[in-house]
Amino acid sequence: MNDLLPRVSAPAGAESWLHVERWRHLEQTFFSHASRYGFSEVRPPLCEYTDLFSRGVGDTTDIVEKEMYTFEDRGGRHLSLRPEGTASAVRAALEHNALAREPVVRWAYAGPMFRAERPAKGRYRQFHQVGAELYGDASPAADAEMIALAAGFLSALGVNAFRVRVNSLGTRASRKVYRDALIAHFTPQLDALSPESQSRLQRNPLRILDSKDPRDIAAKAGAPSLTDSLSAEDQAHFAAVCAMLDALGVPYTVDPSLVRGLDYYTRTVFEIVDVSGALGAQDALGGGGRYDDLFADLGAAQPVPAVGFAMGIERLLLAAPEASVPRATRVAVVAAARADEQAVLGAALALARDLRGAGVETHVDTRFGSMKSQMRRANDLKVDYVFVLGGNEVAAGTVSLKTMADDVAPEAKQVTLTRAEAIARVLPASR
Ligand code: ATP
Ligand code: MG
Repeated sequence: MNDLLPRVSAPAGAESWLHVERWRHLEQTFFSHASRYGFSEVRPPLCEYTDLFSRGVGDTTDIVEKEMYTFEDRGGRHLSLRPEGTASAVRAALEHNALAREPVVRWAYAGPMFRAERPAKGRYRQFHQVGAELYGDASPAADAEMIALAAGFLSALGVNAFRVRVNSLGTRASRKVYRDALIAHFTPQLDALSPESQSRLQRNPLRILDSKDPRDIAAKAGAPSLTDSLSAEDQAHFAAVCAMLDALGVPYTVDPSLVRGLDYYTRTVFEIVDVSGALGAQDALGGGGRYDDLFADLGAAQPVPAVGFAMGIERLLLAAPEASVPRATRVAVVAAARADEQAVLGAALALARDLRGAGVETHVDTRFGSMKSQMRRANDLKVDYVFVLGGNEVAAGTVSLKTMADDVAPEAKQVTLTRAEAIARVLPASR
């Protein structure tokens, strides 16, 4: 199989996380949950100038150094398939001057992202994210609301075995102090570091803390803590985020070693990991944080405070219980024509049209085989009701309504009703 191809449209019967219904349910749950916080959907393009990501995500990150699908178009422009959504959303906000219309912008998105990584369970080259971004609010309350939004979305999906880890990276100024302290710590043991970390020491020493290489892990012992480099303002901001998470009842753990792999973060960062074991090694469901410098880095005249997160759809589906997709009522119309066949078949199609018009998923086996074969097909489709139409019913304006559920009394299994009564019977109660 081509690793790059999206695997979203696999047929029923394939692994359950591939089912399109589950994807759609997840996206609908996300947007409906986010809209309660005032977020509206944006659809940034799949492809951007490469420069956007090298400036935005950062030249020394894994994503830009080795994971992007980059190419030259016919005009010699350097383009990349987007590896993440934040930089694109900021570019769009700048180009469309979104903050001139609204003091605080709340955007949500869902869609494919591309990273040239070694595929594994929960790690694909085309994968999909849902994400949310909030621009124009520097307050710790905005950070706490984003984390609460992400956690609430997981609960709405039925994913409850997760842990939220939070940390503060401070502003760029305090991180500079920390950077120097880290370089001082690692330089005496430069030869003991992994080759990758050796090359990163001067450029991006924080990334060494993120490394899973045993040599780097050993060298990390006794490294200075980022927390000690935070300014008083950074510390106050972080304390307020934690206090608001407490007020919101969102459980979290403070993890001073959480740095995240993208350069644009400032102050609050967070990650949500699955603790059910369903994901194996790829246990990060999502992450995000504050990125108060990104607008300016991408050319904004004024700094714009911002905070956001993204979550991996494939991993969410691996973690979500299968039963979390609600199933709508499904019916079949069966034509039992012994005489005047065309009139009965036409009436069956018209009945199906009216059921669909009322919002009901309705199946008609338009091959119109024997009644027995139509019933077998209805059974295979696991319908809740069968509307049986014969010549007598058509003449009388009635249908014979058969309830397929097992827990129905025998006398209620099949009843004759007027056409309108029968349709009303299968509509969801809320209508
Ligand atoms: P990881 O630790 O898995 O490499 P990351 O830090 O690279 O994740 P982010 O850039 O923070 O990931 O993206 C947010 C989320 O998107 C991740 O937590 C994960 O759920 C999902 N994700 C990232 N890369 C992939 C991928 N290649 N395949 C599937 N999902 C991914
Ligand atoms: Mg990664």
